[in-house]
Amino acid sequence: MTIDGECFCGEISYSVSGPLRDARSCHCSRCRKAFSSQASAYAVVDPEHFKWKSGENLLTLYQNQYGFGLQFCKVCGSTLCGTFNGQVHGVTLGCINGDPKIEIGRHIFVGSKAKWEVMPNDVLQYDEAAPDDTQLSDQ
Ligand SMILES: [Zn+2]
Ligand SMILES: [Zn+2]
Repeated sequence: MTIDGECFCGEISYSVSGPLRDARSCHCSRCRKAFSSQASAYAVVDPEHFKWKSGENLLTLYQNQYGFGLQFCKVCGSTLCGTFNGQVHGVTLGCINGDPKIEIGRHIFVGSKAKWEVMPNDVLQYDEAAPDDTQLSDQ
């Protein structure tokens, strides 16, 4: 399967020639700011499956001291990818076009969610990290 994604202005696009893994939503205060939203929505990709199709020159990288980063469009501000040591680690679910055939499997750091967010019932949630998580923002 091929998954396509693009930013809000459409200048940057990518394709993923394989399945996404570990879709999760993190409700911590850092992810809220990084995603400008109530939580992150993110899944892991195999770097060899990922390819930029257009607009790579318009990407900006914000990387923290531990080597984790986010790549976003410098024109429209959409956050497209997470990186580790400069290599693509995962994609933001919001920039995917169509059905990526994966659902968010767990909600993490719900214990520090925004006061204004109302959690849906019937979702798997953890007050902090899930037991098996490797999580971009919490390294
Ligand atoms: Zn854009
Ligand atoms: Zn987080």
